[in-house]
Amino acid sequence: MGIVVQKYGGTSVGTADRIHKVAERIIRYKNEGHQMIVVVSAMGKSTDVLVDLAKELHTNPPAREMDMLLATGEQVTIALLSMALQNRGYEAVSMTGWQAGITTEPIHGRARIHQIDNDRIKQELEQGRIVIVAGFQGASNTGEITTLGRGGSDTTAVALAASLQAECCEIYTDVSGVFTADPRIAPCAQKLDRISYDEMLELATLGAGVLHPRSVETAKKYQVKLIVRSSFTDEEGTIVEEESNMETGKVVSGIAHDTSVASITVIGMPVKVGMLSNLFKTLAISGINVDIIIQSTYHDKANNISFTTSTEDLPRAIQTLHAYQEDLGFESVEYEDDLAKVSIVGAGMITNPGVAADMFSHLSEQNILIRMVSTSDIKVSCVIPRDQISLAVSTLHRSFGLDVQEAVVHG
Ligand code: ADP
Ligand code: ASP
Ligand code: MG
Repeated sequence: MGIVVQKYGGTSVGTADRIHKVAERIIRYKNEGHQMIVVVSAMGKSTDVLVDLAKELHTNPPAREMDMLLATGEQVTIALLSMALQNRGYEAVSMTGWQAGITTEPIHGRARIHQIDNDRIKQELEQGRIVIVAGFQGASNTGEITTLGRGGSDTTAVALAASLQAECCEIYTDVSGVFTADPRIAPCAQKLDRISYDEMLELATLGAGVLHPRSVETAKKYQVKLIVRSSFTDEEGTIVEEESNMETGKVVSGIAHDTSVASITVIGMPVKVGMLSNLFKTLAISGINVDIIIQSTYHDKANNISFTTSTEDLPRAIQTLHAYQEDLGFESVEYEDDLAKVSIVGAGMITNPGVAADMFSHLSEQNILIRMVSTSDIKVSCVIPRDQISLAVSTLHRSFGLDVQEAVVHG
């Protein structure tokens, strides 16, 4: 039997009791003859606690120190899980990202994995040990500790599975798989048995927090068999694989939402060649991710440009725009920080015209004002007021035929 990579998220390792349960599951696999690599997150909400602590000590915590701090969360879990396994008589070894050979680009807070030198892991596996790796972290080739971005332990797991050509990568979490919408806000959501990499990537990118988008990207690139399951039950989970749109036979396979959307309007940008690239390059250099962009001409000498970003990036975006106002030559800047984005996703949309129009009418029937729209072959997204997001998700879920007949309790 081959290598299995398992990843356990924060809730799954939130207490000593949960860690015992996780150890028992790992031992079951080990006893079946698998070589086990286990990636873990920080316990419970401890990363959030560290973030809040940092904010009490610095108004804008330096990114390097932030990575140094947040990387400690996962290190607590690897040591405790390794102890729990050793206490049951199993050989286990904990490793930080750096010890596991994970090299990333030299960027703090959202580094991408460059390569994995898996010699040490292989040696430990050959000795019959269970290898426990700290998720969400690595080291740059300049010797700095880096993190992969919030939720990044999924990506650590998939990257290790790809590098070691594992049989599969199982992501254990607090819901029993990937649902047609976030089961916490759409109680009628259904669990999917299968979903394609492409649809899952869209859902994850558009806010379905169950998988880190880069883990899906990596799984698709290296054809890793990815399974999302609950660490609380033995239920079968959701398999993420190449093509599986036959699941529901529906045009829309799932609804994603993101409640941390802000919009910025740059008023009176001069109309000239290269103006858009100047504006968005300036924002990119400051590390600000921009999503939907709308350009509207109000007379022939100046434009208004609106775009969305995350509420997290908003203060930095405003700061950057004010700092470069003179160079960019615009008149003023306005923003809104109480927006959300709801998206419908489905590979079947390519061949079904009118899906966007249907989405707009379902939302307007509920008096939901659509502020911005963006589309691709397999998704339509609408930016709406944040306080209407639950209504929007449940309306679209029902209207596109995704509701199960009776609400079920998920977990
Ligand atoms: P972990 O700590 O295990 O990584 P996360 O909180 O990152 O867990 O991801 C699991 C959560 O993702 C679920 O509790 C659920 O609320 C949320 N979620 C959002 N969209 C979906 C979806 N489409 N299917 C399943 N879960 C979803
Ligand atoms: N502990 C990190 C976070 O909370 C990474 C992860 O859980 O994947 O974002
Ligand atoms: Mg997660």
